[in-house]
Amino acid sequence: MRVPFVDLNAAYIELKAELDEAIQRVLDSGWYVLGAEVERFEEEFAAYCGARHAIGVGTGLDALTLALIALDIGQGDEVLVPSNTYIATWLAVSHSGALPVPVEPNEGTCNIDGTAIESAISERTKAIIPVHLYGQPADLDPILDVARGFGLAVVDDAAQAHGAEYKGKRVGTHADATAFSFYPTKNLGAFGDGGAITTNCDNLARKIRLLRNYGSQQKYVHEIAGFNSRLDPLQAAMLSVKLARLDDWNNRRRDIAMEYTRAISRSPLQPVALIKGVNPVWHVFAVKHPDRDNFRNRLEASGISTMVHYPVPPHMQAAYANLKLPPSSLPVAKKLGQELLSLPIGPHMKADEVEYVAECIVKYS
Ligand SMILES: *Cc1c(COP(=O)(O)O)cnc(C)c1O
Repeated sequence: MRVPFVDLNAAYIELKAELDEAIQRVLDSGWYVLGAEVERFEEEFAAYCGARHAIGVGTGLDALTLALIALDIGQGDEVLVPSNTYIATWLAVSHSGALPVPVEPNEGTCNIDGTAIESAISERTKAIIPVHLYGQPADLDPILDVARGFGLAVVDDAAQAHGAEYKGKRVGTHADATAFSFYPTKNLGAFGDGGAITTNCDNLARKIRLLRNYGSQQKYVHEIAGFNSRLDPLQAAMLSVKLARLDDWNNRRRDIAMEYTRAISRSPLQPVALIKGVNPVWHVFAVKHPDRDNFRNRLEASGISTMVHYPVPPHMQAAYANLKLPPSSLPVAKKLGQELLSLPIGPHMKADEVEYVAECIVKYS
């Protein structure tokens, strides 16, 4: 049996009639930038997250960047970021003009360690970006407490966590602003790039709407020096179709995660630890193995494709050589990059595929 890491085509096959209709509707409308389709999806997504506002933008990276800029973060400021995240979290800080300051994760949960945050705060620190890595919400309450105490903004990176719950509430309203990505592989993925910011703050929403559209609300009137980063109406129309399926798809991921968790309990593998009060959406199902690469090769030889999220942390990338952070300066991020392995997971995996992966991870670990 061959089990691919992801099967993006399966969602299109499931929803082909509705998606084709949505595309045709946009083509027929003669309206190809922002407009009714984008507004409709924004309303649906805001309602789904329980937020007052959702603003559709070009990418998840832009969602983070524009949220930071809207919060007046820029040159001379520092923003705390997890040391073990996809590099976009750091790049958003860099593109705002501020400096990313890494904080190590809790080795069990792989999410930012709330107790390590305070010692990373300087007089230049303006914000914290917790990442809900792999679809498990970071422990937000202690982070929000520290932020309040020091007068810092919090923008959470929910690129992997559409629909995930923290203390009974979906992510998207706990912090000042929440950034989402609709990159095709994400739990809610477009057929191309896309992103959104949710917030309950009217002022922030208004500013982000300006920033994504040349600083303009009224054509040829430019209030601020904005960008061009708008969610595409074709993508918005298709995202509306997929949003209606998101809960079912997340629940299917939860079932698969439960089956893997049962198998892992009979193996030497270490799962990512879950905290109380969260309901994760399993964007990624990661396990730790001390001899990860050999384990990975054995699975590959059995037809099971896996990935590593992420093999080389941002501080060890050439893009951040200027920060002069030696690899050993963030040992937890480095170690996780060597030991973690992500198993295939997705709403369209067949029962026999899940069973086969569960069997093989016990047999080959
Ligand atoms: C995917 C991702 C992003 C970036 O999203 P894009 O839409 O690809 O720009 C940011 N942060 C995390 C944690 C991600 O997984």
